[in-house]
Amino acid sequence: MLAEDTLKRGPNLATPYLGFTTGSWRTERPVLDPERCNNCLACWLFCPEGCFSRGDQAVSLNLDFCKGCGICVAECPRQALTLVEEGAASARLSER
Ligand code: SF4
Ligand code: SF4
Repeated sequence: MLAEDTLKRGPNLATPYLGFTTGSWRTERPVLDPERCNNCLACWLFCPEGCFSRGDQAVSLNLDFCKGCGICVAECPRQALTLVEEGAASARLSER
């Protein structure tokens, strides 16, 4: 049985969970194109880690707990998310 203080409440999850952030093993991550996003929150609905929250114009994506599963990319109806290799993600973002 875990002590209460070892449990944390995630920013977008109603239930407590172990507050361990994703390690360095993740090989891919979603990259958001905010100009394609319409805040429909389908990604929030399907993401098993609660990484998304509503933003002003586009969703906000917190990668601390992202496992790189790609579910959000598959479910986004506007193709606003792309799964890219970890090494390529920073280069991709700097293109914008
Ligand atoms: S599913 Fe796609 S369009 Fe909808 S909020 Fe998420 S990123 Fe934006
Ligand atoms: S890749 Fe998986 S864990 Fe990461 S934000 Fe998308 S659905 Fe959530």
